[in-house]
Amino acid sequence: MPASPSTDTAILWFRQDLRLTDNPALQAACRDAGKLLPVYILETDPDPWTPGAASRWWLHHSLAALDAALRERGSRLHLLQGRADECLETLAATSGATAVYWNRRFEPAALTRDRDIEAGLKQRGITCHSSNAALLVEPWDHFNQQGKPYRVFTPFWRSLQPRLEAIVPQRRPSALPGVPRGNGHGLSLEELGLLPEYDWDAGLRNEWQPGEAGAGKRLRSLLETRLIQYPEARDRPDDEGTSRLSPHLHFGELGPRQVLAQLMQHRAGHRSAGLVRAGEQFLRQLAWREFAHHLLYHFPETTDKPLDRRFEHFPWSNAPETLRAWQRGRTGIPLVDAGMRELWHTGWMHNRVRMVAASYLSKNLGIHWREGARWFWDTLVDADLANNTLGWQWTAGCGADAAPFFRIFNPVTQAQKFDPHGRYLRRWLPELARLPDKWLARPWEAPTEVLAEADIRLGDNYPAPVVDLKASRARALGGWDEIKGIS
Ligand code: FAD
Repeated sequence: MPASPSTDTAILWFRQDLRLTDNPALQAACRDAGKLLPVYILETDPDPWTPGAASRWWLHHSLAALDAALRERGSRLHLLQGRADECLETLAATSGATAVYWNRRFEPAALTRDRDIEAGLKQRGITCHSSNAALLVEPWDHFNQQGKPYRVFTPFWRSLQPRLEAIVPQRRPSALPGVPRGNGHGLSLEELGLLPEYDWDAGLRNEWQPGEAGAGKRLRSLLETRLIQYPEARDRPDDEGTSRLSPHLHFGELGPRQVLAQLMQHRAGHRSAGLVRAGEQFLRQLAWREFAHHLLYHFPETTDKPLDRRFEHFPWSNAPETLRAWQRGRTGIPLVDAGMRELWHTGWMHNRVRMVAASYLSKNLGIHWREGARWFWDTLVDADLANNTLGWQWTAGCGADAAPFFRIFNPVTQAQKFDPHGRYLRRWLPELARLPDKWLARPWEAPTEVLAEADIRLGDNYPAPVVDLKASRARALGGWDEIKGIS
């Protein structure tokens, strides 16, 4: 608590920074304010990317966890719903707050909106203080040697590395200023209506613990037991080889500076070459997140438009039924179906399977990557505009540093290589469980007696492939031939 506060009452506006540790807006507010009103606003501002169903589920539980952490420290979270500018202006007027603190966001709509909010509050004599909680390096602070934004990952990563040593997280404040009186209680969490109306979220509840404590557990579990295997295991959907930190990072229950610091500390205590290598591999993935935010900031149109403009002329198919088969995990291609069912059930999908499912949609099915990005947006608990845009454009071959279009993932060989014993496929496709490994990734090629023995009737209890892999690959390459010469 400040010895003599420079601001009597302040508002702390929580957004995608739902944590108390390494939260610079919170630190600054604690330093400056005598009374502090922490608020979360469920925004109704116009934004084409309002959170999807799985993200809303996560948000509900994350807000509950944040409120509990604030209450343990004598504060509490004030919940509102509406336009952010109006909510903040009204709250400042009723609480007598003279300052608002927040951590910056990087999505195009949020950036424009934040600028307008700041201008409006300033006009009312309210000061605004913004900080960086979400990234290791902000996009406007990192350019290539020509002074331009990076479009290729490797030089971006190389230039980021020397900057990492100077990055240190902030501590959790030891005490929080009290809440000003007389603002009512705001809305209850239930009144925000974030939870689904019918009960489809059991899988999410079993898999995740939203909130700062859950994020800390995931990071500790990675560092203490699994980091050493990360370089090999990170490509294996049948193993829990990755951190599963993505939703925690998206909602800011854990910041990348904390991950970096804990990784460095862990490395200092275990000087093995294997661990150093594993730590570097992991950091490199975190740097993809930085790269994605860098691209979204510098190329904000890429949420809807391909960075490689030739793809605006690609002959995409309009095939609602096939799209639906993909969404439901009923394409007849086991690795794609397993991934889409994992997504539906847990709100998450392994990165390798995301690449395969996205390649299959945009190349084999020829359906616009935007349709896939929208479905992921609604169903992923880690739906993140920067990472999702990069992931889809990269896989579809039209983004920054993208996979070349002709690199079309073969879902059969991918399954055989990365799920060699079929554990992942059998887990998500129990109807195929009795098929021998040899045929599991390509049941349509299995001899009739093998299918009968495994009790599989293609087109009945498991779909026949909705498209032929070879023919659809050739069609995709034909589409590429049509556009690749466009300048
Ligand atoms: P780990 O391997 O443990 O990596 C640690 C962290 O690094 C992740 O939590 C994530 O924040 C970051 N990271 C890892 N890989 C990437 C990557 N390729 N791009 C950007 N950041 C990365 N990630 C999201 O967080 N949200 C999305 O909406 C999203 N959509 C995607 C869509 C497609 C089509 C593809 C191919 C990838 C997408 N990704 C997305 C990236 C990646 O699949 C996930 O970040 C990763 O699977 C999360 O699992 P993890 O936390 O166990 O990863």
